[in-house]
Amino acid sequence: MSKDKPNKIRYDCSRCPGYCCTYPRIEVKGSDVKRLAKHFGIPKKEAERRFTRLYEPGERILRHRKDDVFDSICRFFDTEERRCTVYPARPQVCRDYPNGPRCGYYEFLKFERKHQDDPDFVPSA
Ligand code: SF4
Ligand code: SF4
Repeated sequence: MSKDKPNKIRYDCSRCPGYCCTYPRIEVKGSDVKRLAKHFGIPKKEAERRFTRLYEPGERILRHRKDDVFDSICRFFDTEERRCTVYPARPQVCRDYPNGPRCGYYEFLKFERKHQDDPDFVPSA
């Protein structure tokens, strides 16, 4: 019998500076805004205004904040701890990513860290 476990998770977000959270176009649906509003105990309209902006008609995205590692990152990202601050209430697109057992960014990170012989190296994407 093969020892391969094809569905085993091959990435470790705790060792990653948060590449996926730098994506400029992180789409949020109405249900995502509702979840965030509930998480913060505020009205949905307020959550929509504070946390999101219109990218184009019919598409709302998460607002960003400044980051020293990357220029810009999701407004919910803790830039000191390098982690999501709304993990239980994060949007569906964040829950789904990377849509499989491997994360392309993490593969890149692992490769560069090995190549540089530095386990903490942070290459720009
Ligand atoms: S880029 Fe990949 S490894 Fe890094 S935080 Fe996102 S999902 Fe996790
Ligand atoms: S909500 Fe959390 S997981 Fe999603 S992009 Fe922002 S910081 Fe990353």
